[in-house]
Amino acid sequence: MSIITFDHVSKAFPGTRKGAPVAALDDVDLEIQPGSIVGVIGYSGAGKSTLVRLINGLEKPSSGAVTVLGTDVGTASANELRSLRGRIGMIFQQFNLFTSRTVRGNVAYPLKVAGWKKADIGPRVTELLDFVGIGDKADRYPRALSGGQKQRVGIARAIAANPELLLADEATSALDPQTTGEVLALLKEINRRLGITIVVITHQISVVHELCDQVVVMDGGRVVDSGDTYRVFAHPRAVLTERFVAAVTQGVPTGDTLAALRTGGGRLISVDVNEFTSEDIAAVFEEHGVRHTVVFGGVTDIQGRQLGTLTYRLQADAAAVEAAASELATRTRAELLADTAKTGTEAAS
Ligand code: ADP
Repeated sequence: MSIITFDHVSKAFPGTRKGAPVAALDDVDLEIQPGSIVGVIGYSGAGKSTLVRLINGLEKPSSGAVTVLGTDVGTASANELRSLRGRIGMIFQQFNLFTSRTVRGNVAYPLKVAGWKKADIGPRVTELLDFVGIGDKADRYPRALSGGQKQRVGIARAIAANPELLLADEATSALDPQTTGEVLALLKEINRRLGITIVVITHQISVVHELCDQVVVMDGGRVVDSGDTYRVFAHPRAVLTERFVAAVTQGVPTGDTLAALRTGGGRLISVDVNEFTSEDIAAVFEEHGVRHTVVFGGVTDIQGRQLGTLTYRLQADAAAVEAAASELATRTRAELLADTAKTGTEAAS
């Protein structure tokens, strides 16, 4: 049973100055399962904010159906949408805290709105502030907090009334890398410990890389790639996905880097590391008696699995190199980079 379903959803806005309508979303299909952490990634204008506004019922689809926590957003009444929003927590890039209320006051606010008893609110707020790691800041005002601390208040407020779904809209885009890592770790803990489904809207692939088990890649209002994060990263189905992935893995050497590597002799081969791991690659070289040294590239970890591209310098006779390269090519992408077999073996011997 999905927690969010988009069924052929399009959303058009009137164009400016009597221009053609803007298709913010174009035939989007989406299914988000309870308990998952899903990253929606795309550049500015891809339609991400529109997607969020449909999920929390601030907009209705122009066509198609949006179902969130069992509510049909397109046909729901204002009351039904309000009650839906009560089951969804939101965190924002600019935190959106009340500057005139203390940390405690900010976190208490949604509980008051939800009709909690005063006697229950105090202990709940204390528990939340401890959970997000700012128990000692309860009586401070937001202006006295760092960005990371403000976002912790935002997170405490968002989960205060036990939402089933948490929407994070560019929640780490205003934070430095260290603080971003801490906030992502907190979101992961919220998902694992409280079982809250999280949808993260971002333009940062590093956020998807570190946090999400599912990813939806958006471009021009369309979903161009989606699925299990490892699958999408390891086997991109869209050029845009390749571009995002290239930012977290080092690809194939080019230009001056490649020219410099070529002067070192041997033959260069660039091999993708995926389900076929770096250990598997080494085993193939060894089986063919090929000496191999990594000279460029990198391997990163996604959900405990290797992903990346490694470039090796190979030293062996041409036949052994060719045999190893052909065997690798049946298992993963493997490309001999420069036809320097002769000079390579000469340099090697
Ligand atoms: P993102 O969040 O990925 O930057 P948006 O959902 O904000 O993308 O926007 C998608 C497209 O829809 C953009 O071209 C944007 O200009 C347009 N758009 C979004 N909201 C409106 C609106 N209320 N009125 C007119 N155009 C809009």
